[in-house]
Amino acid sequence: MRDPGSELNKLREENLYRELKYGASATGRTFHSGNLSLLNFSSNDYLGLGSHETIKEAVTETIASFGVGSGASRMLSGGTTPHLLIEKETANFFGKDSSLFFANGYGAALGTLGAILQKGDTVILDKLCHASLIDGSRLSSATVRTFPHNNVDKLKKILNSINENDQKKKRILIVTEGIFSMDGDSSPIKEIIKLKKQHQALLLLDEAHSFGIIGESGKGIAHRENIINGVDFLMTTFGKSAGAAGSVVVSSGTWIELILNRARSFIYSTAPMPSQAAAALAGLRLIRGSVGEERRISLHRNIEHLCNELQIPKPQGAIIPLIIGGELEALRVSGNLHSAGILAPAIRYPTVSKGSARIRITISANHSEKDIAFLAKTIKPSLIST
Ligand SMILES: *Cc1c(COP(=O)(O)O)cnc(C)c1O
Repeated sequence: MRDPGSELNKLREENLYRELKYGASATGRTFHSGNLSLLNFSSNDYLGLGSHETIKEAVTETIASFGVGSGASRMLSGGTTPHLLIEKETANFFGKDSSLFFANGYGAALGTLGAILQKGDTVILDKLCHASLIDGSRLSSATVRTFPHNNVDKLKKILNSINENDQKKKRILIVTEGIFSMDGDSSPIKEIIKLKKQHQALLLLDEAHSFGIIGESGKGIAHRENIINGVDFLMTTFGKSAGAAGSVVVSSGTWIELILNRARSFIYSTAPMPSQAAAALAGLRLIRGSVGEERRISLHRNIEHLCNELQIPKPQGAIIPLIIGGELEALRVSGNLHSAGILAPAIRYPTVSKGSARIRITISANHSEKDIAFLAKTIKPSLIST
């Protein structure tokens, strides 16, 4: 038998070993652990809603009326009014017929891809798609193809290589993201939709990092680009800008019916707590209202400020990857920042490819102008020396 200890040692030797951190206070602009207080540039709570009073109240009020556990899967008796409301309001928000709420985005991706795809179908993913989309594709038993990041020509070649007879009988699903989670850039969504239409393929767009922070009312990339009708399945999580937890897949009524009949991560799992659905709903309502509007302005002002200081182009979202290269070097930079009082982790293989280790900085509306100036001043020397 392979010994787990030696496997861990190998990870340590390769600088790929990971450890957990435990915060001792609410999520926010600082991360407290022991006596340490670090400025947090590693959270996806882009709008700083994770500790918002309205979301906290939604949770406590829902617990008062619905208790804590849901007690059963949605197929049995686990569904409640908050589940119904989050599904209605997200479908409405994204301009689609229907929506299904999952406990998290990882499970939503696994369930949805498995529900849509069968053996003989083809799923074509951008190479930098999130692990949940890759894993869901692999589990689905469809043929999995990938195209180099944002390379539309290569996507076109893959589509052309699929037998025309097959195209009529089988499903072809293209999968990409609004904003990529580790690179922070967006996808050439209009060109992808053009190809998708030519080849009668379907498109799944994951807006995990664009929902809440991009476009009018935070509706994301598809709405900003005015191509929501070309997106067959829109996914997002409530664990990031909505400051809560959970995930939805939004689509036409027929597709959602099929997904809820087939998605194993949905069917064979206890329904998320009613208070979780209520938290997600409160997050959505804040995002589309005046709080969201104000926070998007602060967030984008902060991003612009940092990019000006570092003299780098402003990304569309709130993710700023500083590519270092080597795993050890990235750990060193992250360690130096830690000593200076900044939490900005080194992202390494297998989250990103080997040799492209990076510091992934995420900005929040909660950061002050001073926080951003301090980050810029602290990080500049490491960028020059690597
Ligand atoms: C975070 C993320 C997910 C997973 O969502 P969770 O709710 O955290 O499980 C899925 N897709 C992308 C692109 C993500 O960044």
